[in-house]
Amino acid sequence: MHVGITEGDTEFLEANGHAFQEPGDLAYAGFEYRFASRLYTPGDLDYVILVPSLRCNLACGYCQVSRVNEKTPGFDWTDETLKAVIRFLDGLSTKRIKVEFQGGEPLLRLDVLKEVRDFCRSRFDKCEFVVCTNLQDPSDEACRLEAGILAKLKNVS
Ligand code: SF4
Repeated sequence: MHVGITEGDTEFLEANGHAFQEPGDLAYAGFEYRFASRLYTPGDLDYVILVPSLRCNLACGYCQVSRVNEKTPGFDWTDETLKAVIRFLDGLSTKRIKVEFQGGEPLLRLDVLKEVRDFCRSRFDKCEFVVCTNLQDPSDEACRLEAGILAKLKNVS
C-alpha cells in the first residue's frame, strides 16, 4: 500500500492551486491574495477630504498643491458642486463621518464649510471636522466655526 503523496497527487494539487513549488510563484501569490482578502474586510467609507477652493492668501515657495491667487475667479465650488457633494455624503451608509477641508485656503469659503458641517451634523450620529488652514486671516466668524472644529495648521513659515 502506498503512503504519502504521489507524483500524480502533486500534479493535481499544483494544477488546481492547492500547492506551490516555491514562495513567490503564481500559486503562492494566489494563496496569499485569497488569505489576505479574508483577513481584511473593507468597512463603510467614513473619511472624506474636501477642497472647496484652490484659492489661497499665501504663496509659499514650497507649495505643492494647485493653488491660485486669492482673487482668481473660477477656482471655488459652484452651488451645483456643493449640492452634489451633499448628495454624495447623504448617500454614504456610514453612521459616523470625518471630513477634512483642504485647499487652497479652505477658510476663504466659510459658507461652504458651515453648510457641509451643518448637513453632516443633521445626517450622521458622529461627526469630526478638520480644517487644514494657514490661519493668516482668522475672522471672528472663522474662529467661532473653529471652536467646534479641529484646525490643522499648515506648515507655513
Ligand atoms: S498656505 Fe498652503 S496652499 Fe497656501 S500657498 Fe502655502 S502651502 Fe500652498
